[in-house]
Amino acid sequence: MTIFSKIIAGEIPSYKCAEDEKHYAFLDINPVAKGHTLVVPKREVDYLFDLTDEELAALTVFAKRVAAAIKTAYPCRKVGMAVLGLEVNHAHIHLIPLQSEGDMDFRKDKLQLPAEEMQAIADNIHKAFCQ
Ligand code: AMP
Repeated sequence: MTIFSKIIAGEIPSYKCAEDEKHYAFLDINPVAKGHTLVVPKREVDYLFDLTDEELAALTVFAKRVAAAIKTAYPCRKVGMAVLGLEVNHAHIHLIPLQSEGDMDFRKDKLQLPAEEMQAIADNIHKAFCQ
């Protein structure tokens, strides 16, 4: 079971932003920008491009809804989308609110935000997602 499956199952805590029957979205614990969110399929698949065409399309459409919620909660120029998957072997999409190109730089020092602020960010995105 991957760490993300444990998060989806509620065995490990997460800052939940959105959920539907087949997908889950939560804040990245080491954000490159405020509102950095991970979108994952509930089905455990390592490599994003090993998802079926239907699963990949559905995940992308779910990510589109989450990106709209992020943009509502945290006005930004655009929400960037990235796929790495080098650390966690459970397919996921990074969604990152962008003010500048540097906000997408995964090599820079990550933000360290207090738990209360992480919870508030997740709650704001979740509220926007549910509207
Ligand atoms: P990558 O697999 O290279 O796309 O990176 C995995 C991402 O998952 C990193 O940005 C981590 O900060 C993030 N991550 C790892 N464990 C957790 C967790 N328990 N909760 C939230 N994010 C996590």
